[in-house]
Amino acid sequence: MRAGTGWDLHRLVKGRPLMIGGVEIPHSHGSEAHSDGDVLVHALIDALLGALAAGDIGHLFPPSDEEWRDASSLDLLKLTLHYIEGYRVINIDSTIILEEPKLAPYIEKIRSSLATSLDLRLEQISVKAKTAEGLLPGAIVAQVVVLLSKC
Ligand code: MG
Repeated sequence: MRAGTGWDLHRLVKGRPLMIGGVEIPHSHGSEAHSDGDVLVHALIDALLGALAAGDIGHLFPPSDEEWRDASSLDLLKLTLHYIEGYRVINIDSTIILEEPKLAPYIEKIRSSLATSLDLRLEQISVKAKTAEGLLPGAIVAQVVVLLSKC
């Protein structure tokens, strides 16, 4: 068994899409980023790589590389699976910290999106959301823990 953690933060800016776990959430603001700024998928990629001490997202997909401009984070996630070959995901637990909008209506869609991308069952993926009590109005944060097992 190998455990990994991932953490990511993006600044929220007006007029950008708000992508979370491959789902576009209707909102006035979205992540400022080189790619689509999907904070949850970025933290998940770091957790998967971290579990096998295989580096991090910035090392694999450097922001300086034009190839990854506006890249779909789900595509990056699929590429990341090559780096964990020989292991399978037991479970994923995640927390998104965001002041608004409320994510409750989108949680199941986000879980389904990740399950489809990773070929996992819904019960293997937990997505939780909370606010920062008004202290983090200009940002979105995601924290992820994964457990991997050798195939
Ligand atoms: Mg990021």
